[in-house]
Amino acid sequence: VIMKPHLFKEILEDVILLFETECALKNVMIDVRMNIRHTELMCDANQLKQVFINLLKNAIEAMPNGGLISVSALHYENELIIKIQDSGEGIPPHILEHITKPFFTTKEEGTGLGLLITKDILKQHNGSMTIQSKEKQGTTVEIRLPFLPSAV
Ligand code: ADP
Ligand code: MG
Repeated sequence: VIMKPHLFKEILEDVILLFETECALKNVMIDVRMNIRHTELMCDANQLKQVFINLLKNAIEAMPNGGLISVSALHYENELIIKIQDSGEGIPPHILEHITKPFFTTKEEGTGLGLLITKDILKQHNGSMTIQSKEKQGTTVEIRLPFLPSAV
């Protein structure tokens, strides 16, 4: 892990750009709201990019007929709060409790590692992730990252 100050906005924007073509092809809209202009975060940029790649990938996979992904980021006290909400199939409660376990997948070609890796990277940044979901309505992943991970 290489912890350095990075403009968080750029990390998230870089990842969203990666998905632009795929989203256009799959009728997925991404709405981005960031109130964080010059916010610097001590982080491993490549690792954090992996987090957002994993989450956006899951959101897209949950919407085989297209839909909307809303991404928001804001400061709250000493944390950065990022939400990724999709309008996909959602997750039934009895599944939700298992989804961060190693190799747990409901997909034919899934690895079941995306959320595990995500959780691990967030842990290295002293961050956290909570997932809320409603069947047939969608899923919201909320991430919290402290600005000064070492001081936490
Ligand atoms: P994979 O994507 O390879 O299955 P993940 O660890 O990324 O592995 O996700 C585990 C499981 O969690 C998925 O198989 C799926 O059932 C569920 N899941 C994760 N994100 C979403 C989402 N946004 N919408 C619906 N289900 C999701
Ligand atoms: Mg995945």
